[in-house]
Amino acid sequence: TVLVTALSFSRYSREPQRILEGAGFQLIRNQEGRPLKEAELVDRIKGVDALIVGVDPVTEKVIEAADKLRIICKHGVGVDNIDLKAAARRGIMVTNAPDSNYISVADLTFGLLLAAARQIPHADIITKNGKWDRVVGREVWKKTLGIIGTGRIGLAVARRAQGFEMKILAYDKFPNNRAAQEIGFTYVSLEKLLSESDFVSLHVPLTEETRHLINEKTIDLMKPEAILINTARGELVDEKALYLALKEGRLAGAALDAYAEEPPSNNMLLSLSQVVTTPHIGAYTYEANHRMGCTAAESIVKFFAG
Ligand code: NAD
Repeated sequence: TVLVTALSFSRYSREPQRILEGAGFQLIRNQEGRPLKEAELVDRIKGVDALIVGVDPVTEKVIEAADKLRIICKHGVGVDNIDLKAAARRGIMVTNAPDSNYISVADLTFGLLLAAARQIPHADIITKNGKWDRVVGREVWKKTLGIIGTGRIGLAVARRAQGFEMKILAYDKFPNNRAAQEIGFTYVSLEKLLSESDFVSLHVPLTEETRHLINEKTIDLMKPEAILINTARGELVDEKALYLALKEGRLAGAALDAYAEEPPSNNMLLSLSQVVTTPHIGAYTYEANHRMGCTAAESIVKFFAG
């Protein structure tokens, strides 16, 4: 039995479900229309052999409650909602789909960058409301882009930035010098990246080290005309500090696909016109959905085939 809590599993492509059912697995789907809560997962995890999970909290409690569970598959990339240590203690394998959605997230990142630079969503509303106010934006061509985290998504963003002849600065705990040479970007310190970039884009995973990487102090290093783009995780940013900086004009704008609380409730950032927002749709393309689902389904089939 496979418990599927990831809401978009096999939603836009039938293939993932077909792979599992074809191999004789029975699927139990999340009927709630929202991610499950810890207590709900604790209830439903019993008797389940495999779990395909979205952003639902797979905590130590959930893992302790599992009696048959052998494998947890993240329908996506970021595994920060899964207690990896607890899973390891119980000998439960955890997989993700690292190659499935980086192209989609990189596309969205660049879309958000352009949208924020030219205030496209704001201009759209004005035009549709019959106004003809010319919104003044900023050019992207030859500007400096700071990429924090040069993994799959960060590098794909760098490749897109090359088309705009941007100067690319990068920061990563584990620099990829080959990629830097091939794509043409320079690794610098976090401080230098923040102080010299016109656009700063986040592509690191959420860990204890990266939580609130963007805070009052690091925002102070940024140029007042800079724009922050976050398509990684909301908690990388101290949202209160970002709100104050934007409100006080210490930062020009932000484009966000991820929030500390999702869906956001009472998030002050949503009230600012210089903030462009999307509802965590980085991986929501037909292509990525197909790949994420197939990767999860195939991991389960392969695992139980030994
Ligand atoms: P990746 O693992 O390929 O790359 C992450 C990079 O971050 C690596 O190069 C790593 O060395 C670096 N890194 C890790 N810890 C660091 C630290 N403390 N300081 C500096 N660098 C550090 O991951 P990816 O596929 O590029 O994805 C990046 C993140 O994007 C994911 O962890 C996930 O949270 C997020 N994501 C969001 C969406 C979305 O829908 N918006 C979709 C997929 C992934």
